[in-house]
Amino acid sequence: MSYHIPSDDKIKAALENVLKKFRTVQSQHKLTKLVKKELNTKKENFGVNGSRLRNIAINSGFVKLEIHSREGDPKKLMTKCPVCGITLKRVKNLTIWGGEVTIEFSCPNCGYWTGKKKRIPTRYVFHLKKKKA
Ligand SMILES: [Zn+2]
Repeated sequence: MSYHIPSDDKIKAALENVLKKFRTVQSQHKLTKLVKKELNTKKENFGVNGSRLRNIAINSGFVKLEIHSREGDPKKLMTKCPVCGITLKRVKNLTIWGGEVTIEFSCPNCGYWTGKKKRIPTRYVFHLKKKKA
């Protein structure tokens, strides 16, 4: 048995097959397992790392990522997206009632956002995006 690192395209194709079959996969761990199963043959064994797979899913165009999170330290400064690693955008929101400004950070790439109470991702759910009619 030989071990291979698959290309992004190969992972993407396997990911699409898995999601077409299952529609929704409840965790990154489970998705990694399913994609590996899809890639592997009797002769070749492919290694896929969870965060690489997540990034390919985010950029694939056919995956809707659902981010489950817990509350993190509000004092901790967050500049990079904990989901995909790119620099977060600072967004100011004016609340209508008090006129108070709240600062939020959002990721233009994967849809992650956080307020003062930091959202720490704990679990990812992967959905197959519905095709536009
Ligand atoms: Zn992101």
